[in-house]
Amino acid sequence: MGKPRIVVVGSCNMDIYSWTAHLPEPGETVIGERYWMGMGGKGANQAVAASRLGADITLIGRVGNDLFGKQMLETLNSYGVGCDFIKVDDGSGSGVALVTVDKKPENMIIVIPGTNMRITPADVMAAESRIRDADLVMMQLEIPLDIVECAADIARNSNTRCILNPAPAQPLSERLIKKFYLLTPNQQEAKILTGIPADTLEGAKKAGKALLKMGAQDVIITLGPMGALIVTGNETIHIPGIHMEDAVDTTGAGDAFMGGLSVALARGKSLENATRYANIIGALSTRKPGATPAMPTAEEAESFTRSLSGYIVENG
Ligand code: ADP
Repeated sequence: MGKPRIVVVGSCNMDIYSWTAHLPEPGETVIGERYWMGMGGKGANQAVAASRLGADITLIGRVGNDLFGKQMLETLNSYGVGCDFIKVDDGSGSGVALVTVDKKPENMIIVIPGTNMRITPADVMAAESRIRDADLVMMQLEIPLDIVECAADIARNSNTRCILNPAPAQPLSERLIKKFYLLTPNQQEAKILTGIPADTLEGAKKAGKALLKMGAQDVIITLGPMGALIVTGNETIHIPGIHMEDAVDTTGAGDAFMGGLSVALARGKSLENATRYANIIGALSTRKPGATPAMPTAEEAESFTRSLSGYIVENG
């Protein structure tokens, strides 16, 4: 069987973290303890997650003509992500996320979207044949909404299934929601989309059903350590999460989940088995700090799955 082909249309950011004893007040300078810099952005993270699991990935997006842009292209290449449709844009700097974390730990985050908000319909059109030949298209909301819509339309005209991970949260029109084969909000995003609190399983069921009423085809609501809830016109299935004794950092768990989900669906697995696999990938990603460095490989996923005998129901 060939590699599953997935196209991601999404963001690339350079994440710059600093750690300090306390967050600065306006006008205050504080001396930090250390910093860390690395690639982030939901598009890049999900592309890396799926690539690590053995998919053939094309990422459509933009980086700046600057040091961060160069570095991100190198990092994406090192993870095997196809970068032919990432434009280097002179018109703005690369997307950057500035995160400061104190001892409590509380944080302060500034995101400068930069080139991510400069993706054009022509960028997506240029990759039309790649979308037509793909098993799946996957998007998030760190790029302009009209680009999300444009890519969804191209995917639809090409008969390619298209998933939207509606993160970060924002309300969406029913017209847009209808265009996706699958919507995958977390609990906060489900609440913003529907107005229904989804912090309990019961609440998530209601929010999922409300999304179906708004025109969504199928919905998976991720529930953190509680796993995920599948809501379709026919059934509602809760797939419990996997308890990790050695979890250290849940950053990027949602992106890891999306990587696992997309690869399994592109391989033709059922929604239920794909969600089970996605829970495994999400859980495994909590064992290491950071987002991209924490994404498990196909081999790690396979050996962990074997240790959870019976979690994946075969023939799905
Ligand atoms: P996000 O990271 O977008 O906020 P969630 O917190 O819902 O999304 O997490 C996404 C998925 O990652 C969950 O559905 C689950 O599979 C996995 N996950 C998240 N946190 C944990 C955890 N503490 N233990 C095990 N799995 C987790």
